[in-house]
Amino acid sequence: MRQILLITLGTILVVSLIVFGFTFNQVNEERLDLSADLQYRTRLLADSLKESVEPSYNQNSTSTLQRIVDKFSDRERIVGLAVFNNRGVPLASSVDIPARVIENPDFVFSALDTGEAAGVFENIEGDSLYLFVSPFSENGSVAGALVVVQNAAYIDEALADIWERNALRLFLQIVVFSGAIVLLVRLVLYNILKRFADSIKSARRSKTSPTHFGGPFFLKPLASEIAKMHTSLYEARVAASEEARMRLEKLDSPWTEERLREFIKAHVKDRKIFVVSNREPYIHHKEKNVITYSVPASGMVTALEPIMKACGGMWIAHGSGNADRETADAEGKLAVPPDEPHYTLKRVFLTEREVKGHYVGFSNEALWPLCLMAHTRPIFRKEDWVEYRRVNGKFAETLLSEIRDVQQPIILIQDLHLSLLPKMIKENRPDAQIGLFWHIPWPSAESFSICPQRKEILLGMLGADVIGFHTQQYCNNFLDTIGKEIESKIDFEQFSVTRDEHQTFIKPFPISIAFSTEKAIPTVTAPDSKELEKFGVHTKLLGLGVDRLDYTKGILERFKGIEHFFLKYPSYREQFTFLQIAPVSRLEVLKYREYGEAVTAEADRINVAFGTRDWKPIILHKKYYNHEMLNKLYQLADLCLITSVHDGMNLVAKEFVAARFDEQGALILSNFAGASKDLKGALLVNPYSAEETAEAISAALNMSKTEQRRRMKLMRESVKNYNVYRWSAEFIKTVTNVE
Ligand code: UDP
Repeated sequence: MRQILLITLGTILVVSLIVFGFTFNQVNEERLDLSADLQYRTRLLADSLKESVEPSYNQNSTSTLQRIVDKFSDRERIVGLAVFNNRGVPLASSVDIPARVIENPDFVFSALDTGEAAGVFENIEGDSLYLFVSPFSENGSVAGALVVVQNAAYIDEALADIWERNALRLFLQIVVFSGAIVLLVRLVLYNILKRFADSIKSARRSKTSPTHFGGPFFLKPLASEIAKMHTSLYEARVAASEEARMRLEKLDSPWTEERLREFIKAHVKDRKIFVVSNREPYIHHKEKNVITYSVPASGMVTALEPIMKACGGMWIAHGSGNADRETADAEGKLAVPPDEPHYTLKRVFLTEREVKGHYVGFSNEALWPLCLMAHTRPIFRKEDWVEYRRVNGKFAETLLSEIRDVQQPIILIQDLHLSLLPKMIKENRPDAQIGLFWHIPWPSAESFSICPQRKEILLGMLGADVIGFHTQQYCNNFLDTIGKEIESKIDFEQFSVTRDEHQTFIKPFPISIAFSTEKAIPTVTAPDSKELEKFGVHTKLLGLGVDRLDYTKGILERFKGIEHFFLKYPSYREQFTFLQIAPVSRLEVLKYREYGEAVTAEADRINVAFGTRDWKPIILHKKYYNHEMLNKLYQLADLCLITSVHDGMNLVAKEFVAARFDEQGALILSNFAGASKDLKGALLVNPYSAEETAEAISAALNMSKTEQRRRMKLMRESVKNYNVYRWSAEFIKTVTNVE
């Protein structure tokens, strides 16, 4: 827009200068023409008047002269007439003749001296006049002179008129030019540039060999550069693919998105993959008529998206955004990622009642506390179960219709929201290969036995060919539960369950993050301790907690540990601050609202007990921060404190480790988080013991740099070796290898 304005203003300036030059010239020419015409007509008039004046003058008849003067003085543009004798004395003059002509007739004297007629333009008292003097003679010598004063104002008026008309013309030209420029830029240039942008985009995405890019002659150099770029991209792509293939051979190299893509291409070939989850990977929102989208902060999305990008399959999920319907087609489908589509997202739309019963009720108030074992009593409502079953059925219907014409589809079902789906699919499509990944812990058989719908849930899950959990312990618990609840054959060597001739394998796949060895990735900008000031942290030592505001995260237990720490080690007061990031979560559920209030009250209580005027021991931000900001905080913290009372994995622990390129900082991790099985360099604590947590904080703050490095190296190596790409590859390999 600014460029269009500049072009328009520049054009207006140039056109104005040209019009001004032309008008100036025209005005000068017109002035000369009109002046010459006035001079000519005045001379003719004076000559004809002289014929009437001369006889009376010769007879010395002043009264006749006066009469003649009076008679002719109101003709045309005549302002006044006067007759002078040869000494310059006025003999007769009309009433309106300007006084200056009579009192100071210098121009008359010059004409009497030379005997020549002469004229002069003068402005007298604001009037533009033409003074003309014509001597007349008697007996060969100058006898007197006739003065004619003409009104010349009409010349100025004519010139002003020219300026005015040209200014109006200029204005119209400016309007027309500006309109034309805007239209030209919009219709011609914009379209050409858009075609070029599309060409560049297609070059970026295209996997085919380079093509020729057209365009108008003046953009030929650009077209040629794009063609070259396309060629380079194509060559780079071929080289990278070759390199990835070679790396695949070397199994000890770390997994990357590229390696996963190559692996899927080689392993899955042309088969279609369907991911099914309650949470969708892209949510569209509308606010004040502006539609935006967000990617939920979810380890599941990070883990599964590379698979979908690589194979271009379909992801079926609940459309929960308020602009989800209008951004999808009539079947609820859209190509994603929105900026660079690779696969199809199919949204399943649920009623308010279905969401309440399926998501809020049975998933979050029954299954979540049942599996998380956080001493929150699960609530099993009959009506929630009905909706849970109905929603699973709705997903099954959608999926079955999508795989109708697909041979041996690969189906990856996610989490507790869809436990009945595997059976619903398997019964209809025995050829489908189905993997179910359970993203939360699995409790002991005794704990699970309190669930009234346990048999239906377990049978639903056993429809899958592979059921994945984060840890071996959860696999063991699941097999125990099956042994207790379901009549089946359990193979403890292969870790499988066979029922009605269908075998289900139970395997651990510890989910992880996209570990990067590149320090220069955009999300990892150099941390600046001034960032902490914005959070209200002014001390040198910083402890960090990052969790959804969820009772399973043990935030209240953590605060108790911090309280103990300050009680036992008071010298750390005003030296150490604990920053807790806790974005609110699942506010539809009463327990979560109550927990949020309890966390705030506990932080306030400890701050009142220990805080000073300039320092608070706990700074609580119940707000969501993006990964870029979290990465900075991870890098600035001296310790990261994770005290989940139960947690399937806990990705924050792995993110903290991955962000520490400096190999410094300490991780304090709950025994009850799945991540504690992978991160051997962490200081493990029982979150229920405030004393243990306090001692771990003290140990972390006093740990030597060498010890921090040793532990951090160990943990970084583990996350690097088992990152999310490896998780995806192993899960998909297991599912597709099932006979
Ligand atoms: N997270 C985030 N912004 C926040 C808080 C958390 O993006 O303000 C992310 C965090 O980086 C992590 C995820 O949310 O990737 C939480 O995963 P985790 O396994 O730790 O816990 P979950 O919430 O899945 O139980």
